[in-house]
Amino acid sequence: MKIICVGRNYVDHAKELGNEVPTEPVIFMKPKNAILQPHTPFYYPEFTNELHYECELVLRICKNGKYIQERHASNYYNAITLGIDFTARDIQDECKKKGLPWEKAKAFDNSAAVGKFIETTPDFKNKNLGFTFHKNGEEVQKGNSRDMIFGFDFLIAHISNYFSLNIGDLVFTGTPAGVGECMVGDELEAFLEGDSLLKMEIK
Ligand code: MG
Repeated sequence: MKIICVGRNYVDHAKELGNEVPTEPVIFMKPKNAILQPHTPFYYPEFTNELHYECELVLRICKNGKYIQERHASNYYNAITLGIDFTARDIQDECKKKGLPWEKAKAFDNSAAVGKFIETTPDFKNKNLGFTFHKNGEEVQKGNSRDMIFGFDFLIAHISNYFSLNIGDLVFTGTPAGVGECMVGDELEAFLEGDSLLKMEIK
């Protein structure tokens, strides 16, 4: 499986990092080893001094496909959760300055934490999905799927023009404003429509 991530998919987040609002999706990938397996501790990576959380809605692909049309895209995912796209922001800033790829900053081991999946129904897919992210009990991010620049079905169609989608692949759909640092000992928790789907600690 692979993890496909969307960058800058919320206007307020693109602006907070000083990036332009994109006119087409910004896509990057994480390898399978980036998945933080359940019941595995997350240790603060030794190569960064500025680890950021980015809480995102995550879709799970349920059908193989390429060149998927947007109007059929919702048949290609059947579960959703919240995840954290962990980012070594200091390294990413360095990469961006030099025009280098982001993998060292974004695709390292355990950099993709994923919550409990909820099966989607056609009705659920069309809802505005509100989510919040809490650090040490305090709300630090608040998002809603209706604020995404590129919606779920557009993203699935767009991504599949470049990469075949396979059963089990995950799509991180971008983070809203409010990204920030986490430290050893921080408790992180993500809520979808008020339900806690992901809870973890930085070790
Ligand atoms: Mg992200």
